[in-house]
Amino acid sequence: MLPHKHMILSATIGAAAWTVSGDPTTCAVAVVAGVLPDVDHLADYMYFRFRRGHRLILPLHGYEYAVLGIVSSLSSDDPIVLVATLSYLVHLFADQLENRTRPPAYWLLFRLWHRFRVESISAAPEAAMRGRVDDMRRIQKWWMHRVRRS
Ligand SMILES: [Zn+2]
Repeated sequence: MLPHKHMILSATIGAAAWTVSGDPTTCAVAVVAGVLPDVDHLADYMYFRFRRGHRLILPLHGYEYAVLGIVSSLSSDDPIVLVATLSYLVHLFADQLENRTRPPAYWLLFRLWHRFRVESISAAPEAAMRGRVDDMRRIQKWWMHRVRRS
């Protein structure tokens, strides 16, 4: 899912959390927890750059982290933990709905078990690989545009 969609979803969660709690920090935390996990795509892009193959490593995408968040939420009264967990879970659900992956694909251990191979994790591996190449081209184009402007 593209970052602006994650931003809209997490900002909505954050606005609701801020309204309910009265604490603006909950809004910031929701946005960070709902958007920041996608920086881990860089690991996959680096793998492609240096190994010339596609992998779905995504070290920050994993229901294991959500389970830890849920356990922490249940043992804490801190709304920050609850909001971070909720926003992170929505990020994973949104990714899973939009990307054509096998159902357990967003478990880090499942991906590790399959050695992060796109062919084993994605329900449409060719589309997944094409999408990644498109992402890298978009980033490269954005980067070159910024370099030329400076
Ligand atoms: Zn994501």
